[in-house]
Amino acid sequence: MITRRNLLSSLIATAGATAFAPSMTLAALQAGQASTQKKIPWKNWSGSQICYPDARKAPANIDELRELIVSAPGHIRPVGSGHSFTALVPTDDTIVSISRLSGMVSHDSVNHTSLIQAGTRLGDIGGPLAQAGQALINMPDIDEQTLAGALGTATHGTGAGIGCLPSFVEGLQLVTANGEVIECDRNHNPEIFNAARVNLGALGVITQVRMQNQPSYRLKRQLSCKPIEEILENADTLANENRNFEFYYIPFSGMGFQDTQNITTEAESSTDKTDQNDGVETLKTLRNALSWSSTIRELSIGTYMKTIEDEVTIANSWQNYATERNVRFNEMEYHLPRENGLQAFREVREVVERDFPEVFFPFEVRFVKSDDIWLSPFFERETMSIAVHRYFDEDYKPMFKAVEKIFKKHGGRPHWGKINTMTGQELAGHYKHWDDFKEVRQTLDPQGKFLNPYLKSIFAV
Ligand SMILES: Cc1cc2nc3c(=O)[nH]c(=O)nc-3n(C[C@H](O)[C@H](O)[C@H](O)COP(=O)(O)OP(=O)(O)OC[C@H]3O[C@@H](n4cnc5c(N)ncnc54)[C@H](O)[C@@H]3O)c2cc1C
Repeated sequence: MITRRNLLSSLIATAGATAFAPSMTLAALQAGQASTQKKIPWKNWSGSQICYPDARKAPANIDELRELIVSAPGHIRPVGSGHSFTALVPTDDTIVSISRLSGMVSHDSVNHTSLIQAGTRLGDIGGPLAQAGQALINMPDIDEQTLAGALGTATHGTGAGIGCLPSFVEGLQLVTANGEVIECDRNHNPEIFNAARVNLGALGVITQVRMQNQPSYRLKRQLSCKPIEEILENADTLANENRNFEFYYIPFSGMGFQDTQNITTEAESSTDKTDQNDGVETLKTLRNALSWSSTIRELSIGTYMKTIEDEVTIANSWQNYATERNVRFNEMEYHLPRENGLQAFREVREVVERDFPEVFFPFEVRFVKSDDIWLSPFFERETMSIAVHRYFDEDYKPMFKAVEKIFKKHGGRPHWGKINTMTGQELAGHYKHWDDFKEVRQTLDPQGKFLNPYLKSIFAV
């Protein structure tokens, strides 16, 4: 029996991110390189990116970090929690984690801002902020990422009236290739600020971030299983009328989940039920058993899903955004002009259900407000984001290739941390400040210390 809790905790958790990286892929590295055998490999969350760095460092403070940056031979790549699917981190030289630079430094109770060390995991920010009477304005659907890692790729949650995480940044501190510590905000080093809020780890190591937050709040989350056509029909209204709205589609079911969240003063509560089943594995089993007939598959899954009850969860905001993602996958997510999103979704559904009967992971659709950040995929554009996934040990390339064609046709910009094949030239066409970013990067790091093969390829260095 499939229950909604199952599907949401693991299937929906699937909605996420990767890239057909130009180099450093698992396959490439497994193909040989005997000299790497004695080094300890670094891998990302999904296992799709791997490298054998000469050194892995975790400085205890800014002085140690500066010393490391100045003295390390070769290239340096900053790493957060390794949750990006693209080849942003891999290097043969030095990987640096600032996980020891963690925690809240200070807060301003009048303006609801806080200074947070950039190695802090998002999940570790909520508690200290709550003590200060504050909360992050929005959060993604997991909270394992570090703050710096989330800024690196323009990590976002959902909410048509709410921007991505970097859009809440009021100022930040960066250690550059020559060991200099630079502070920037809208008035002080504004060019660096515009480049550094979404930076791909290409400008140096971010050490502290000043975040605009809001007073602590409680969210009421309501999840309902409905026919996908009904969700599509109401999607625009739901996005406009709820603080946070997203939806999921379970392929070959005709059914989806509608997920809204709104601020409430109601007491904490949950209708969550204990459930031993594993939704993803159940869908996989159904796929294996019924892939010979999409009609019977749709009928079976759809019939089961209609029995799923609504779920309501009222909790502190920071405890109500994230879900557990315990089933590994690879993911592609594109950010589309909002007005093209629903049409693109329909096309993606059609192609997947026509040509890829083996797919069983859900699609995830979210909404994000426009911003003014140079390399933000939401730059000056109200956005609808669509994400598709494949089980981690299945070949994602054919399906992602077919779907990416649709995303590109509708003007999509890829999530920086999720699988895509966009070249530097294509990316440049999407970002009017592409050359400005490159100029800031060149000024801060003329020797390319913070570059790796992927970044060199897209920035044509
Ligand atoms: C299960 C799962 C769920 C996800 N859900 C969402 C979601 O809901 N929304 C969303 O938008 N994305 C989501 N993602 C993608 C994820 O949020 C991004 O890839 C994010 O960048 C990962 O953060 P991280 O700390 O793991 O950083 P990493 O992946 O380790 O690094 C990301 C980038 O940040 C840079 N970086 C890291 N630390 C520093 C530093 N101190 N200074 C400078 N640069 C640095 C790295 O060099 C790299 O370029 C999900 C990914 C997974 C695996």
